[in-house]
Amino acid sequence: MCFFNDSKVTKFIRVKRKIITLRFIDSQTKGQGGEEHEILDTFPILFIRDHHPADHSSFKEQGGIWPSHCVAGTRGGEIHEALLPYVCEELTFDKGCCRETEQYSGFEGVNAAEQSLGEILELLDTTDVYVCGIATEYCVRNTCEDLLKAGHKVHLLKDCLAYVDHAGHLKALEEMASEGIGIE
Ligand SMILES: [Zn+2]
Repeated sequence: MCFFNDSKVTKFIRVKRKIITLRFIDSQTKGQGGEEHEILDTFPILFIRDHHPADHSSFKEQGGIWPSHCVAGTRGGEIHEALLPYVCEELTFDKGCCRETEQYSGFEGVNAAEQSLGEILELLDTTDVYVCGIATEYCVRNTCEDLLKAGHKVHLLKDCLAYVDHAGHLKALEEMASEGIGIE
């Protein structure tokens, strides 16, 4: 059971690298070192993760563009251990679970009860969403744009992102800013 006491939602998008985790915690604890648990506990935290079958159609060996990644049942398909204290089943959304579907946007993911991200954000009466994760040009961007379409104020934490290509990352940030996504 999760308890929510704020309409602001912090969302991790399949955070794989500890450095992103640490940067995120840092960004939320400016000048208040050591208080990260208290601060993170005041927000509902949603996790979105790629959870692919081993033969997912997006993988190079299947004719796709990506190396094999985030395979369900392997370490790559799990949430980083540093984040486990914040994980709650109802707020964890898996996507890309079917061989044929790519699903970059978190809005295409569902939790264990088959509820979508959009459905849960509505139930939480969410206004603002803070986003971090991987990768800026793909899953992060698609999710941010869907959040915006759904009427949320989107805060993208630029120091808490990982990307495929640096130039692509910068271009995506610029384009997202022009669409009304807050780059912070
Ligand atoms: Zn994927």
